[in-house]
Amino acid sequence: MKVKQLSKHIWSLKTWLIIPIHVWVVVEEDGVVLVDTGIGLMTKGILAFIDKLEAGPLKAIMLTHGHSDHTGAIKGILKQRSVPVYAHRIEIPYAEGKLPYPGRKKAQPSIEPGLAKPLQEEASGELALIGSLKPYLTPGHSPGHVVYYHEQDQVMLAGDLFTSKKGQLRKPMKMFTHDMKEAVASSVIVRKLQPKRLEICHGDSVLLPGQQIDAYLAGQY
Ligand SMILES: [Zn+2]
Ligand SMILES: [Zn+2]
Repeated sequence: MKVKQLSKHIWSLKTWLIIPIHVWVVVEEDGVVLVDTGIGLMTKGILAFIDKLEAGPLKAIMLTHGHSDHTGAIKGILKQRSVPVYAHRIEIPYAEGKLPYPGRKKAQPSIEPGLAKPLQEEASGELALIGSLKPYLTPGHSPGHVVYYHEQDQVMLAGDLFTSKKGQLRKPMKMFTHDMKEAVASSVIVRKLQPKRLEICHGDSVLLPGQQIDAYLAGQY
């Protein structure tokens, strides 16, 4: 597994299974949180990295969405650490297998029912800040997909909202994206927040993605 420090508080851990798979460790004041968990094979490496970092205990797991390549290490991690798992309330029934993901015939549970707690919502409907990360609902790739924005480091952890190629934004993988139009529309969040860097689960980092977002939204990529 390849480890990289992305910013003052954020590290990425990367493995390969045909495509690259990233998860992110975010250092908080009282410990660390894990954003996405990749595949089961990453369990040992994730926990070993968190121990080695000596930035405090794992406090929570936060999911961008419930596809199985983002939830694979949850079971193994929870065997060893007792931490809450968060996802958007819209995503939870799909991840639990109560509903088939749109466009799929069969429901495919990727987490145990009752395990994931919904991300808190403010009265305004916005998602509440959780530690130093602010979640934003970005549907399209999956119904309850969220990105997490680290305001202090100006880093967006974008899950499967995009892929990338040579530092350029690319659309998410077609085969696993139920509504591409909606997914592309959801990416306006990049224009709004103007992150310094954008991190993608199945691709390399994109620096200053705001410079490309108008062309992306116009369908040029
Ligand atoms: Zn996905
Ligand atoms: Zn994925």
